[in-house]
Amino acid sequence: MKKIRQSDKLAKVCYDIRGPVLEEAKRLEEEGNRILKLNIGNPAAFGFEAPEEIIQDVIRNLPNAQGYSDSKGLFSARKAIMQECQQIGIDGVDIDDIYLGNGVSELIVMAMQALLNNGDEVLVPAPDYPLWTAAVSLGGGNPIHYVCDEQADWFPDINDIESKITPKTRAIVIINPNNPTGSVYSPELLLDIIRVARNHNLIVFADEIYSKILYDGAVHTPIASLCDDLFIVTFNGLSKSYRLAGFRAGWMILSGAREKATNYIEGLEILSNMRLCANVPAQFAVQTALGGYQSINELILPGGRLREQRDTAWEMLSQIPGVSCVKPKGAIYMFPRLDPDIYPIADDQRFIQDLLEREKILLVQGSAFNITDTQHLRIVFLPSTDVLQQAISKVERFLGKWAQS
Ligand code: PLP
Repeated sequence: MKKIRQSDKLAKVCYDIRGPVLEEAKRLEEEGNRILKLNIGNPAAFGFEAPEEIIQDVIRNLPNAQGYSDSKGLFSARKAIMQECQQIGIDGVDIDDIYLGNGVSELIVMAMQALLNNGDEVLVPAPDYPLWTAAVSLGGGNPIHYVCDEQADWFPDINDIESKITPKTRAIVIINPNNPTGSVYSPELLLDIIRVARNHNLIVFADEIYSKILYDGAVHTPIASLCDDLFIVTFNGLSKSYRLAGFRAGWMILSGAREKATNYIEGLEILSNMRLCANVPAQFAVQTALGGYQSINELILPGGRLREQRDTAWEMLSQIPGVSCVKPKGAIYMFPRLDPDIYPIADDQRFIQDLLEREKILLVQGSAFNITDTQHLRIVFLPSTDVLQQAISKVERFLGKWAQS
């Protein structure tokens, strides 16, 4: 029998947030085990509901959502995004510079497919949200990882970025606020990145999907608000700030030196047209979400649920011997480090699998985020405080036994 094989294009494509350990968790669930999943940043699954007015508006508009929309998206949604650009200082954005997608995910893949020739290089942070690395590889490019420095609040290391630029480098990706580290970049750092991009004629891809999930007074600066002489593509969406991950609604905004990128933009239009349009019912959520009451603020301010959960998770993790964690200033994840002198982990996927089997808790190993060390874990702090407390106590128990074994 001739076997049906996957495309060679997938040879280097990897997305381990939903990888083999999740399969093992599903198997354990089928055997009747209850698994506590702290592996995926899906707010609704943890009782974070979207604002009711968004749901009502989508329901009301369902009869109007039967046909395809313009391939870039509904006028009302793009107009609302355009107005938000004006408010956050991304200047000169026109309706035609905005593309709606089935989540940011679709647009990330599209942006890479339209850009890359085989062997082109894209600078991607390490750690990263691994879809970026995967999308570059799928596009035939080489993801080149630059270091984000844990000792410096996980900020990108500008010297490392500069040292990795070659004649083949086309673009730099930044994820701000960052998944998995929770780092929120300062304007000074962003200006350094702009300087490097300018010197080397790079496109900047800015994934800012957590731009409204900020703690301790952190302020998010859209990189596109700092510069208009580079071509910048900014990504955002409804999945996190509006707890609507299941709607699959995201967008990408082209700004700055579009005149340098006309041919690339034609490529984006081809791909956008080919997929006809993004899910139309969900596009009806965008105007209400952006224009309405920003209930995310209640969750992140002192006393708010997300903020309390972040504090609980961080305090509990930080008091475990040999565990340290840079306190996240944004997003919904902790990325603690396990001291290699106490926990010398050779294979972090095996380690996470052992934790799953022993304590029935599912986390993601640091190497899934394209770092080279095996001493990190990612924990989603979306569960309620009492569930987080139980989970982290179990992690502590597991670590104690592991260190002795
Ligand atoms: N970018 C980052 C940094 C993310 O963390 C995620 C999801 O976790 C996405 C993009 C995907 O978002 P969407 O649901 O809009 O596809």
